[in-house]
Amino acid sequence: MGVPAVRIRRFGNRCLRRRAQTVDAAAPGTRDLLDCLWSSLNRDGGVGLAAPQIDRDARVVVVLVPDRPQGQQRIELVNPVIRETFGPRVPFEEGCLSFPGLYTRVWRQRGVVVAAEGPDGVKVLREEGLASRIIQHEVDHLDGVLFIDHLPILRRIMLAPRLLTYVVTEMLKRLFDKERDGA
Ligand SMILES: [Zn+2]
Repeated sequence: MGVPAVRIRRFGNRCLRRRAQTVDAAAPGTRDLLDCLWSSLNRDGGVGLAAPQIDRDARVVVVLVPDRPQGQQRIELVNPVIRETFGPRVPFEEGCLSFPGLYTRVWRQRGVVVAAEGPDGVKVLREEGLASRIIQHEVDHLDGVLFIDHLPILRRIMLAPRLLTYVVTEMLKRLFDKERDGA
């Protein structure tokens, strides 16, 4: 892929708390953004990435479903809208590339129906299990919602020292990577 990876912003960067703007699914810039998300995701080794995590104000996410019978599946969602969640709420140890090394139990509904735009119009996906969980996590990012927001307040308080290390790291990165950050 020709588009280079960029630095994934950590908790503490305000870009993670913004509500992102819808984009033109057919614009060349949207294709470039998707490619940049794939490059960055592959470099950091995650299963999902949303544009706000690389400081791009766009409702665009990529999802790498690792557990398909035929192998990995790559899903691109432009302007996704969650139409429905269904099934029981289930726990899972979730992580996020904006919180490297942090895994914590998050409860979400088992299934999701999501509509998104593609070059050929709107597609609707109905997913369960891991794919559903990653999609819900990534679409949350587009509204500035993070996985820690789903935790009970006591768990968040316990994690506070850990969260502070991300804030400090991000602050230092922004101080010393000024040029690259603005790219
Ligand atoms: Zn995340």
